[in-house]
Amino acid sequence: MIPEMLLVALTGLLVGSFLNVVVHRVPRRESILYPASHCPACGHTLRPWENIPVLSWLWLRGRCRACGVVIPWRYPALEILAAVLALLVFWRLGWSARLPGALCFAWALLALTWIDLETQLLPDRITKPGILAGLLLNGLGLWWPGIALASPESALLGVLLGYGVLWLLAAGYFYFTQRPGMGGGDLKFLGMIGAWLGWQGMAMTLFIAAIVGGFVATLYLLLGKGRDYAIPFGPYLALGAALMLLWPQEILSAYLRFLGP
Ligand SMILES: [Zn+2]
Repeated sequence: MIPEMLLVALTGLLVGSFLNVVVHRVPRRESILYPASHCPACGHTLRPWENIPVLSWLWLRGRCRACGVVIPWRYPALEILAAVLALLVFWRLGWSARLPGALCFAWALLALTWIDLETQLLPDRITKPGILAGLLLNGLGLWWPGIALASPESALLGVLLGYGVLWLLAAGYFYFTQRPGMGGGDLKFLGMIGAWLGWQGMAMTLFIAAIVGGFVATLYLLLGKGRDYAIPFGPYLALGAALMLLWPQEILSAYLRFLGP
């Protein structure tokens, strides 16, 4: 178990390093492949030993070696989070055919959360391919049942309902308040969650996000932060989806116990 966990954690760190490139460049509409990792301040191209997750940041004391500009703590933090998330997924799913797909989904959730918190955007460049990738993975489950996270029918319904239901909610909110509520990015994100987790997982994700998001919004109101304080909804959706990825049965049965007599 220990060697596997080390492998998963190391993979998580490396993917986290790649996610840093993604969350920095995708909102700026830059290529994620070219040019190579460089200092955003002086353009200094990172040598391999300056690009080792977490360690390089510690070794360089959080500064660019060429110009001395401070490299924010969010770089190593994202790498560590990607590794922790990978370990959580591995702990729940084990060494199974579903593991690679589940890991990719979890890392995509992390990247989208990060981008939404920083820019209030959920870029189409991630959510649209994310919808296709989820449908493809669960579609391949027809031939290789072990790798799917949901049935192909449930995934397809998840996309349609996820996108459609939130669209209706947003339209209703706009009708009553004349203010835009959720953005189009949230709709595509929920569709993507449906593609990966199926319609049941998508519905529970929306339920969890609404409860946690509503709780936090109420807290903001009570603390006098004002009702116009914009809180991005994406991170709550990501949290709900991560919980449904990790503990689907536990959450569903808790929900049914809560509903039923
Ligand atoms: Zn620099």
